[in-house]
Amino acid sequence: MQFEDLKLIPPILSALQNAGYKQPTPIQEKSIPIILSGKDLLGCAQTGTGKTAAFAIPIIQLLHTQASSKKGIKALILTPTRELAIQIQENIEIYGQFTKLNHLVIFGGVSQVPQVDKLKRGVDILVATPGRLLDLMNQGWVKLNELQILVLDEADRMLDMGFVQDVKRIITKIPAERQTLFFSATMPKEILSLANSILNNPEKVEVAPVSSTADKIEQTVFCVENSHKRPLLAHLLNQKNVVSALVFTRTKHGADKVVKDLLRIGVETEAIHGNKSQNARQRALNNFKDGITRVLVATDIAARGIDVDNLSHVINYELPNVPETYVHRIGRTGRAGQSGIAFSFCDSSEQEYLRDIEKLIDKKITKGTINPFTVEFTGVIATAKPAQKAGTYFKKRKPGNSSSKSGGSGGKFSGKKTSR
Ligand code: AMP
Repeated sequence: MQFEDLKLIPPILSALQNAGYKQPTPIQEKSIPIILSGKDLLGCAQTGTGKTAAFAIPIIQLLHTQASSKKGIKALILTPTRELAIQIQENIEIYGQFTKLNHLVIFGGVSQVPQVDKLKRGVDILVATPGRLLDLMNQGWVKLNELQILVLDEADRMLDMGFVQDVKRIITKIPAERQTLFFSATMPKEILSLANSILNNPEKVEVAPVSSTADKIEQTVFCVENSHKRPLLAHLLNQKNVVSALVFTRTKHGADKVVKDLLRIGVETEAIHGNKSQNARQRALNNFKDGITRVLVATDIAARGIDVDNLSHVINYELPNVPETYVHRIGRTGRAGQSGIAFSFCDSSEQEYLRDIEKLIDKKITKGTINPFTVEFTGVIATAKPAQKAGTYFKKRKPGNSSSKSGGSGGKFSGKKTSR
């Protein structure tokens, strides 16, 4: 199918051509006609499937082609994180570049003054995180009485992050007669009941269930002791094919620690997590996107929706305790049909998480083998060569802790593509 077959208007077709989009993704093929017909939609799709365009394109078309000249916010997109909000707005900017629609993104953690200034000038499409939106609604800066379309994006994350009450409060203040589009990567019971309470006879669209988007990503797990994770990370980041890597930790503290360790061995890296100011997070993300830093260390919440072209590797320095999170994480690589590589580190305390992940994705992840005679690895873990790049770690290690012997050459970590 081509975008032309979806009855899109010329300004949008030109914008998509400019963006280099050749064909709609499955979620776009299914959702765009439903949304253009004015129906409610319940979409089960995760980041990486092209779901932003699946709702943004028809919204732009509906608003651009309508005769009404009434002022006011006509479409509201609620999303859980600032990064995701910014990315949605960037996409709207791209798809709507040949229309005159005004759009704005609002989120907390930054001054509200510029956001209020832009609201005063008039906005057609508003992208918002729930907390800041409620603040500005309560102060009277955001009025939603002209709202026609509501999008709830990443509803399962909204639930995880405790935003559901805020969302419900917002919904009580918008017109009951509206089109509602509801997207979630997973559909646990609470999400379905929230969806049922706000959708009106929705069409259901499901693409790539959470377990199968992982299929095109080459996945390897290294079962190592916690103390070996740092040298293993250094070793992997030394490989030439690691063009850019997003490294995940479970906690903010863990992210900072990994950054500190990597900086010590000369790997340019930054962390992105909730304790960083919005400006610092954006700067870190831009540096990563621009290739100034090759490695970005992130916690799960901060990494939601991070959209980086050509991300070659995802590295799970710590496995997530929620198995769906693993799929979300590795979905950062291998976007829009590209292949990607995901390495995971699993220490003895994380075996249970690994079992849950393998159950969810319904396959065993290939075990990466560590050749005990590998020069790089033994050099990093066992041989004290402080002058060497990665050997810096070793200086901190307790004596008598080394287990492997040095010597030999050529061996490497290896991992084959996962098989079902
Ligand atoms: P999303 O799932 O919305 O986060 O989108 C994932 C990535 O795919 C983003 O970088 C989009 O710009 C890109 N994308 C979305 N739709 C298409 C398409 N039809 N062709 C090529 N890239 C796309």
